[in-house]
Amino acid sequence: MIITMQRDATPEQIRAVCDRIRELGFAPHEMPGAQCTAVCITGNKGAVEASLFTRLDGVADAVAVSQPFKLVARETHPEPTVIEVRGVRIGGGGLCVMAGPCSVEGREQVMTTAAHVRAHGAQVLRGGAFKPRTSPYEFQGLKDEGLRLLAEARDATGMPIITEVKDTETLDRVAAVADILQIGARNMQNFSLLERVGKIGKPVMLKRGLSSTVKEWLMAAEYIVASGNRDVILCERGIRTFETLTRNTLDLGIVPILRHLTHLPIVVDPSHGTGVARAVGPMARAAVAAGVDGLMIEVHPVPARALSDGPQALTFAMFEEVMRDVRRIAAAMDQELS
Ligand code: PEP
Ligand code: MN
Repeated sequence: MIITMQRDATPEQIRAVCDRIRELGFAPHEMPGAQCTAVCITGNKGAVEASLFTRLDGVADAVAVSQPFKLVARETHPEPTVIEVRGVRIGGGGLCVMAGPCSVEGREQVMTTAAHVRAHGAQVLRGGAFKPRTSPYEFQGLKDEGLRLLAEARDATGMPIITEVKDTETLDRVAAVADILQIGARNMQNFSLLERVGKIGKPVMLKRGLSSTVKEWLMAAEYIVASGNRDVILCERGIRTFETLTRNTLDLGIVPILRHLTHLPIVVDPSHGTGVARAVGPMARAAVAAGVDGLMIEVHPVPARALSDGPQALTFAMFEEVMRDVRRIAAAMDQELS
């Protein structure tokens, strides 16, 4: 249930509503909005009687939420969530490009890539330090040294950094450095990790699971928000289908559906979404045309030598060209690079 407060409701009236919700054994979630505050109820098994709240002072309305996910639903929060990190805005109209190598491999590699992507319009630097790899024999990332290099690249370029948090064990070390925590596709339903990042005051980008439905994905996002962290970004990165010519099938069709269902910012990752460098640019353009808030793109100085995801990495020249095209599509959509 979502309780909408009157525009002039006082903090005491809002507190009284939250107290009443707790008294009934449920959890209140205050959601301040541009017009008024709403209070969302979670923890109820069945329907809650609206009249329990509509008679309280300062309450404008109380209605049931139709979706199983509540806090991430647009129903409960009509305005888009806008996340601000080191001066970069994600969500709410602009386009945010996150770019960088799949894995941080060394100082020179990450510094040159960071400088290049920044020079061509990326606002956030990506790079994996703790890498979840399909094979235990593959490069597992530079780990803490990778984090240190990312921080150095941030200092040099001013770009906020996003990196994956692979498990609860290393979460604190990653969270001490990262500006945005990435939860990878393989961890989308790692509920203990979701709850833990929900208690950390840094934005989280939740990638869609390899075989997850949109509803499962939104329920996973709900875990993070219900644990106390509202700054969640959704990232479509392709799903597993019968097709083998692409690494994953990029599911762009869900962009407008997500937009309708949730207020969270939507990012598309055409790199993992296709796994094929030549497909990245066209799918980045298509994603912008579909109305996303951001893109995540893998770039490497020498893709042929990349220690992970070389086949999908853009060269510097390719990234430059993709950004030129993306800007034109964004302009046609009246969207500016944030
Ligand atoms: C990545 O971003 O490098 C990554 C491992 O992505 P995903 O979790 O989408 O496979
Ligand atoms: Mn990768």
